[in-house]
Amino acid sequence: MLPEPIQDLIVALERLPGIGPKTASRLAFYLLRAPDEVSRQLAEALADIKAKITFCQECFNITASGRERCEICDSPQRDRSLVCVVEEPLDVLAFERMGAYQGKYHVLQGVLSPIEGVGPDNLRIKPLLERVRGGGVKEVILATNPSMEGEATAQYLYQQLQPLGVHITRLARGLPIGGDLEYADQNTLLRALTGRQEMS
Ligand SMILES: [Zn+2]
Repeated sequence: MLPEPIQDLIVALERLPGIGPKTASRLAFYLLRAPDEVSRQLAEALADIKAKITFCQECFNITASGRERCEICDSPQRDRSLVCVVEEPLDVLAFERMGAYQGKYHVLQGVLSPIEGVGPDNLRIKPLLERVRGGGVKEVILATNPSMEGEATAQYLYQQLQPLGVHITRLARGLPIGGDLEYADQNTLLRALTGRQEMS
């Protein structure tokens, strides 16, 4: 019954994580009512995100388009013998906010999830193994979320990394189970990092 343009917007919004049909409709009608400026800014930001952001070819964190490597990978101050493996770029941000980590990162861009059809080839696992095989990495910290998928992903990575003879650690317990690392407060994250344990 709705005009097509608004239907299209609702369908597009519904595809975003955490947004159901009700919220999608509410947002669409809000945008319809709001000043032109609001939807123009949103449209520009959406266009820019693809045009101006790309992924670092070493760690797969986000970086400005045109750069091959992100600022962290390029920095001579960062310890390249230490690699912290996280699920998403927002997790890198959480560690950086803490300010106590001087190593590098590797962003998987997701977690293993058989239910959602995400297997090892859908994640940046091969480039991680290549980084470690390339030498210079002494310790890999598995910092996936303390969720079921996060734990399963850490276990899988452990099996893949172990034959390469690198030191493998996992963040200490203390992060809320099922919680998201990106929402952990800085002290909790620091405790989890400093208390990290050898995996077996
Ligand atoms: Zn990088």
